[in-house]
Amino acid sequence: MLRKTIITITVLITLIVIVIFLLGPAYLEKDINRVIDHNAYNISDEASALHSSLTVADLHADTLLWHRDILERSNRGHVDIPRLVEGGVAIQVFSTVTKAPKELNYEENTGDSDQITAAVILQRWPIRTWSSLYQRASYQAQRLNQAARRSKGTLVLLRTGADLEAVLRARANGASVTAGLMATEGSHALDGKLGNIQNLYNEGFRMMGLHHFFDNKLGGSLHGVSKAGLTDFGRDAIREMNRLGIMIDVAHSSEPVVDEALALSTTPLVISHTGVRGICKKPRNISDDHMRRIAAGGGLIGIGYWEGAVCDATPAGIAKSIAYAVELVGYKHVALGSDYDGATSVYFDTSELAALTQALLNEDLSDDAIRAVMGGNQIRFLQRYLPK
Ligand SMILES: [Zn+2]
Repeated sequence: MLRKTIITITVLITLIVIVIFLLGPAYLEKDINRVIDHNAYNISDEASALHSSLTVADLHADTLLWHRDILERSNRGHVDIPRLVEGGVAIQVFSTVTKAPKELNYEENTGDSDQITAAVILQRWPIRTWSSLYQRASYQAQRLNQAARRSKGTLVLLRTGADLEAVLRARANGASVTAGLMATEGSHALDGKLGNIQNLYNEGFRMMGLHHFFDNKLGGSLHGVSKAGLTDFGRDAIREMNRLGIMIDVAHSSEPVVDEALALSTTPLVISHTGVRGICKKPRNISDDHMRRIAAGGGLIGIGYWEGAVCDATPAGIAKSIAYAVELVGYKHVALGSDYDGATSVYFDTSELAALTQALLNEDLSDDAIRAVMGGNQIRFLQRYLPK
């Protein structure tokens, strides 16, 4: 009798574990990366024609964190290759989240806890990723690489300027090719080792975000405890990124880190996904002063699509933040930084991006400005700063 009970309980527990691992990843993402209910967007003939003539590029999406095949169209999240194609997106920067504290907030987080470990285990990532942030970044790059290999040439991982030119040529000839570029979201992914910058470079990383929600070995996060500047390690890391030709992203870095990186980096800075304080006054967002200085150095400011960045996440609301940035620093330094699949709720996934082109026309931006913000600036920047 006791034996029978033990067997029944064991079978039940096994079944529950199997169900959790089978259904858990979808359940997890469905709740976290939402598309808010909305009516179909009205796109005028003018906006539609302009949008289909654009080469669109987005500076930030966390898609590789989630358990799905990006070559397949998914009914959850915001980005996959079929939806990028539908939205006319040529280049997507794929950022790699490797650690996120519990009870995330924009004001102050310690690095004592981590929600990503549970997600990594639930999604059955290899055991090497359970305790190493470097391995979590590396594994996400490997997943993009594998997808590119399976894609029959429709997805390309950008490593060099020549890769980019080949993609642009192919698209000009009518081929459906989408390019991905690997980035870190926080350089705690180095596991504290400078040599891992070269290792991540070898795995295809070409942009590195210095911080995420907590202070790390490089210096203070915008949402950390210290609000400090760069450490010696952080300065060495920037020098090594410059040496290798890795672009530097200061989204989520403390204001003193941005100041010091502006002075130290030999290449212009990217702030891949942000809002502007002039429209949406939150500590998450960038000040007019930093916008001016990043732009003066030749850098790019990517505007996000979520409520915390723009206060009004409708296409019209996002267009307002973009128009403000264009007015302040000129259209050559403003870009798209959706933060798709970054635990964000948005009013349109990437397949519906023409709605943003329409909203920018409604803001009276010129065709030249829209062309630049939607992708022209990002492409010019990559042409200049990707390794030859
Ligand atoms: Zn972020």
